[in-house]
Amino acid sequence: MRHVTELFDITIIGAGPAGLYSAFYSGLREMKTKIIEAHPYLGGKMNVYQDKIVWDIGGVAPKPARLIMEDLIQQAQVFHPTVVKNQQIMTITKEDDQFILQAKSGEKHYTKTILLATGYGIVTPKKLILKAGKPIEAKNVYYHVKAMQDWQRKRLVISGGSDSALEWALFLQELGAQVTLVYRKSQSELKAHEATITKLIKNQIECYFETEIEDISMDAEGDFVKIVHLVNRKTNEKHNVEVEGLVVSHGFESKNPLLQQGVLGIELMDEYYVAATSKGEANVPGIFVAGDLAQYQGKVHLLAGVFQDAINAVNAAKKYVSPKAHERGYVSSHNQLFEEKNKKIKKDYQIE
Ligand SMILES: Cc1cc2nc3c(=O)[nH]c(=O)nc-3n(C[C@H](O)[C@H](O)[C@H](O)COP(=O)(O)OP(=O)(O)OC[C@H]3O[C@@H](n4cnc5c(N)ncnc54)[C@H](O)[C@@H]3O)c2cc1C
Repeated sequence: MRHVTELFDITIIGAGPAGLYSAFYSGLREMKTKIIEAHPYLGGKMNVYQDKIVWDIGGVAPKPARLIMEDLIQQAQVFHPTVVKNQQIMTITKEDDQFILQAKSGEKHYTKTILLATGYGIVTPKKLILKAGKPIEAKNVYYHVKAMQDWQRKRLVISGGSDSALEWALFLQELGAQVTLVYRKSQSELKAHEATITKLIKNQIECYFETEIEDISMDAEGDFVKIVHLVNRKTNEKHNVEVEGLVVSHGFESKNPLLQQGVLGIELMDEYYVAATSKGEANVPGIFVAGDLAQYQGKVHLLAGVFQDAINAVNAAKKYVSPKAHERGYVSSHNQLFEEKNKKIKKDYQIE
C-alpha cells in the first residue's frame, strides 16, 4: 500500500553534526526534509565534549564545542525541516518506492530516500559499576564535566586512564579543584598522548596506578558520595579519599541495533561502517550515508569530514528523487532562498 500523506523526500536518521548539516543542505536543495534523533537533544557526540575547545575546523576560530553545536542546530533549522526527537529508529523496510522507518515507540515514517547519519550509534558514557552490580548514580558523580560548575577547592577523584580522563584532571585542576587520578593499570599503560602524561606529572596531580574504586560511602540521605574506597590490585593496599565529587571517565558504549540487523542488505565494512561511494551512496538505491558511519577510501572521521559527506549525500539523494536536478546546490548569495535573510545579515554587518 502506498502512503501519500506526509511522505518526505529525505529522512535523515541521526541529528549529530552530519545529520544537522544534511538537514540544512537538503533544505537548500528544496527537499521536503525530516530529521529523527534518538535522544531528546540534538548535536550527537558533541554533547559529550561540550567544553572542549575545538581547533581543527577550517575557518572556525577555536571555541568550545558547545558553541559550534549550537550553530549547527541553528543552521539545520534555516529551511524548517520536521524535527523529531526522542525516537530511535529500529527497522527500515521498503514498499514499492517508499521506505518505511519504524521507531522503538512504534511510530512510522514514510520517505523516498534515507540519509543514514547515525555515527557510532547511540553513544552513552560507561557507568561505574561496583559490587552491587548496579550503575552508580549520585548528585556528585559526573560522567561529563561542565566548566560552568564551580570546581574551586573541590576535592575530586577522577577514575580513568584515557586522554579524556587526563584532560579532565588537568582542566579541573586549572579550575581550582584538588584532583586525585585513579587508574586500574600502570602508569606506562596510560592511554593518553605523551604530552598530556608529561603535563600530568609536571602538575603533580596525585595518582594511584594499578588501583580501582572498590566501594563508595554515601551521605546519610544517599544523595552524595562522601568517601571513595580505593584498592591497589597488586598489593591489596587500601586508601579512603573523602570527596566532593567523583568523575568517571571509562569511555563510551555505543549501540547501533538498526544496522546490526543487516537491514535491507546494506553493505557494511569492518562489521560496522556503511560502505559508501565518495558521493555518499550506500549499495541500496535510495539509501545514502554521511558522517562517522560512512567508510570509503580517504574518509575523514572528524567534524571537517562530515560536511563534505553531507553535501555529497544530499546531492545524490536529490538526483535520486529528481533525476533532472542540478548536480549541486545553488549556494550563491543570489539564491532567492537567501535573499530576505541576506538583507538582515548585511544590515548587521553594515554592508551596503
Ligand atoms: C570526546 C570526543 C572529542 C572529539 N573531538 C573532536 C575535535 O576536536 N575535532 C573534530 O573534528 N572531531 C572531534 N570528535 C569527532 C566528532 O565529534 C565526530 O566526527 C562527529 O560527531 C561525527 O558526527 P556524526 O553526525 O557522524 O555522528 P554523531 O555525532 O555520533 O551523531 C550521530 C547521532 O545519531 C543518533 N542516532 C544513532 N542511532 C540512531 C537511531 N537508530 N535512531 C535515531 N537516532 C540515532 C545518535 O543519538 C547521535 O545523536 C570528537 C569525538 C569525541 C567522542
